[in-house]
Amino acid sequence: MTPEEFRKHGRDVIDWIADYMEQVEEYPVLSQVAPGDVRASLPVSAPQQGESFDEILADVKRVILPGITHWQSPNFFGYFPANTSPPSILGELLAAGLGVQGMLWTTSPACTELEQLVLDWLIEMLDLPPSFHSAGDGGGVIQDTASSASLCALLAACHRQADSKPHDTRHKGIDSWQLAYTSDQAHSSIEKAMMIAGMGTDRLRVIESDAEGRMRPDRLEQQMAVDASHGLKPTFVCATVGTTSSGAVDPLAEIGRICNEQGAWLHVDAAMAGTAAVCPEFRDMHHGLELADSYAFNPHKWMFVNFDCNCFFVADRQPLLQALSVLPDYLRNRASQSGEVVDFRDWHIPLGRRFRALKLWFVIRSFGVEGLQQKIRSHVEWAGQFAEWVEADGDFELAAQPSLNLVCFRHSGGDDMNQKLADTLNDSGELFLTHTVLDDQLTLRFSIGQTSTRLDNVERAWAAIQGTAAELS
Ligand SMILES: *Cc1c(COP(=O)(O)O)cnc(C)c1O
Repeated sequence: MTPEEFRKHGRDVIDWIADYMEQVEEYPVLSQVAPGDVRASLPVSAPQQGESFDEILADVKRVILPGITHWQSPNFFGYFPANTSPPSILGELLAAGLGVQGMLWTTSPACTELEQLVLDWLIEMLDLPPSFHSAGDGGGVIQDTASSASLCALLAACHRQADSKPHDTRHKGIDSWQLAYTSDQAHSSIEKAMMIAGMGTDRLRVIESDAEGRMRPDRLEQQMAVDASHGLKPTFVCATVGTTSSGAVDPLAEIGRICNEQGAWLHVDAAMAGTAAVCPEFRDMHHGLELADSYAFNPHKWMFVNFDCNCFFVADRQPLLQALSVLPDYLRNRASQSGEVVDFRDWHIPLGRRFRALKLWFVIRSFGVEGLQQKIRSHVEWAGQFAEWVEADGDFELAAQPSLNLVCFRHSGGDDMNQKLADTLNDSGELFLTHTVLDDQLTLRFSIGQTSTRLDNVERAWAAIQGTAAELS
């Protein structure tokens, strides 16, 4: 494809995406294809000769589009959103066009410096602790996902603690006395991090949460005392701000105090909820964050930046760098050796890295802080209204207090009824919602975070939920 052909097809693709944005609301939200349909519609082997781009794009419409669940539909209320926005898509496109690999400062200085700048901006925008700022001992970095951020935090924690002994995790691996703690409401990625780190899930202590789904600091302290009596040490604690099931917020100040007393690393996972801190009125959830060693949230969930984009901050970058840096000869360069630059390859698992800061920068500049605040406030307000409708209907109840943009609720007809309700609604294609289990009961989750969702989408969703429930009863 020549640059001239690229110009033409590029316009076609942008037009295609713009049409998609205008039409996405008309599509059934949940893809209606059966397993194997997509594959069966495409050739078994790759073409020997190149095909025209028009043919390729035609197959996107014919085969791929029916196999899409429309995460960008304003009627998508499932899981947590993975939203995007026009400036984000353009930032992603530009990153692909430049095609830089930002593993070292010297492999594209702008890739590193823009990332540092935008992450420092976020500290101010979300009022995060100044210790995370790149001007001090800490700093921020873009990771692919919250799962990777938690794993890196775990590795840094193990290294920091082991390092005070005669050996360290780089050479000897993680010590058998090192333990991790999280709550029974934490994300499954913490369990996975234990598996990947080779510690195993037996060394993850799962701490009971209270009736609101918040980690109980008294239970955390008790468990640490029991473990200490067996010669084991708390190394890593992961607290959650905005749990995946119900949006619960762990008490960071109390957990942080315990971690500091015990010398354990506190990581705070605010994957979804973190973005809300752009509004001063929602910052209570971060009370105590200054006690944390690391923090992560996903602009790819609620800050209108397309997947993948996780922002990971550490109060002290040394343990992270010591745990993860390796320097083969072929990466040595003058800039790195001068000590004046940051090489982000040492801040995460892969060596290579995409220019993700571009899309984040485009979104922040294009929306402005006030534009972001306005969207977040609308979503939270609509969730509050939805919760009022649930409470006013005798057949439904709230399963938890609404948290920011998430409402957990259920029909009084029991688990089977709620499952049937969700399945019927999702099969209808009118909207999409998902479920969780709270208090051993199937619970429906209504999460409002799509970039293009309006109040009337929420109103129509509630009408559909009520109507479908009446038909099923
Ligand atoms: C969604 C979520 C995650 C996982 O996010 P990824 O970025 O996909 O790894 C982790 N923690 C919480 C609390 C989440 O809600």
